[in-house]
Amino acid sequence: MRKAVVGAALVGAAAVCAAAALVVRHRMKNSSKWAKAMAIIKDLDDKCATPLGKLRQVADAMTVEMHAGLASEGGSKLKMIISYVDKIPTGDEKGLFYALDLGGTNFRVLRVKLGGKEGGVMQQEFEEVSIPPELMVGSPEQLFDYIAEALAKFVATESEGLHAEPDKQRELGFTFSFPVKQTSIASGTLIRWTKGFKIDDAVGKDVVAELTKAIKKKGLDMRVTALVNDTVGTLAGGRYYHPDVIAAVILGTGTNAAYVERASAIPKWHGPLPKSGEMVINMEWGNFRSSHLPTTEYDVALDQESLNPGEQIKNHVLLQIYEKMISGMYLGEIVRRVLCRMAEEAGFFGDVVPEQLKTPFILRTPDMSAMHHDASPDLKVVGTVLKDVLGVPNTSLKVRKVIVDICDIIASRGACLSAAGILGILKKLGRDSLKQGEKQKSVIALDGGLFEHYSKFRECMEDTLKELLGDEVAGTIVIEHSNDGSGIGAALLAASHSHYLEEEEYY
Ligand code: ADP
Ligand code: MG
Repeated sequence: MRKAVVGAALVGAAAVCAAAALVVRHRMKNSSKWAKAMAIIKDLDDKCATPLGKLRQVADAMTVEMHAGLASEGGSKLKMIISYVDKIPTGDEKGLFYALDLGGTNFRVLRVKLGGKEGGVMQQEFEEVSIPPELMVGSPEQLFDYIAEALAKFVATESEGLHAEPDKQRELGFTFSFPVKQTSIASGTLIRWTKGFKIDDAVGKDVVAELTKAIKKKGLDMRVTALVNDTVGTLAGGRYYHPDVIAAVILGTGTNAAYVERASAIPKWHGPLPKSGEMVINMEWGNFRSSHLPTTEYDVALDQESLNPGEQIKNHVLLQIYEKMISGMYLGEIVRRVLCRMAEEAGFFGDVVPEQLKTPFILRTPDMSAMHHDASPDLKVVGTVLKDVLGVPNTSLKVRKVIVDICDIIASRGACLSAAGILGILKKLGRDSLKQGEKQKSVIALDGGLFEHYSKFRECMEDTLKELLGDEVAGTIVIEHSNDGSGIGAALLAASHSHYLEEEEYY
């Protein structure tokens, strides 16, 4: 998929142009419109091009920014947040652990029974609870009381094989997918809400303290042992099964990466050196920005228009441009913007531009993906999405093929750029080359709906990473789907950071 298939459409355009001179006037008008549309695509294809040389420059820039972000606070657009996770699950963990996953309009409570090396994850149970809209804009107490209430109910359903040991306090891993300034493995202050939450009184407060207060009020014997985000949880979940996991990448509605750094290689880390020698870094890589990124006018317009007051970090001029070129929230919207321009400037869908086509975010990435994967001879799915979602009825096969080309250009660019980001991490760790005589294997845990469901995206990303690394090194790198980091991963981190394991942890 990397070599965009748009060539065929362009050759077609040239042929149409040549023929136009011979036919009657209205045909001429149509073909010149077609040529205009093809010119728009050609321009898009040129600007989105991701030759290997460019991707290497992006990867190098990522590595440079990683160094800068590790060196000092605010040293880079990459925040390189210290997660305080210095004990990654090994598989030896034993006992019953809870997790709470709060990151949107639903939250989940979950418990797992871990049986050590032999037993693994022996049993798990979870429950999903939706948050009433009024609690998303109420007071911190109301929200956390509501969550603690659900947690208490869930704890009350502990059954025969799945109950806490009598003399032990229950331990909980808390996945909180909002911007947090982490202050220890089990504390962090809320920087700001996103995703529709607006509880001003909670900003600046320690979210673990708030949750703990609510848990106590309910009379629950439970302690919050780890506060993490979903990417760090995914890394933990991956490492639990594969000791060679060195990084995790989320490709879902948004995108992010976390990786395992040598604690001694983090200049801005002023805490004691953990015995493990390791520290998980939450890169927040959606913030990455580089002049090497293949940016188009569609990205710039999307970026400017999506400026939700208070949502983004204002003094960062960047507004998550890397995330906007890669993640599921935006890919469909970029395609819609291209189609809208073709409709407006080249009458690509006839004389009127349908209202739907002008509606931001109406074309979701799953719809784009469905069109991209359409294998029917008449591209029936493409026709249906155009009609039902974008209000464009009766499209010809020729037009539908062009739409698939556009999906391909935008998805390929995103996939190639995520591969370049992964290469950046491998470079930072010195794993993009082989050391003489050393047996080396690096596993990267991947999760998220985009990775899971958009096969052409996933295949393009994996193929591109292989191309970038070359056959020999590529043979040492494994991409592994790691499911449910925000749930199980958090419970595993509660286990590996358990209060009951406090022997000598630091030098
Ligand atoms: P989140 O990132 O919000 O935690 P997920 O990891 O489940 O959630 O990812 C959901 C995202 O994955 C959706 O927003 C969408 O962009 C993308 N996605 C889901 N299904 C598909 C699909 N069939 N094709 C392409 N993208 C998909
Ligand atoms: Mg997720």
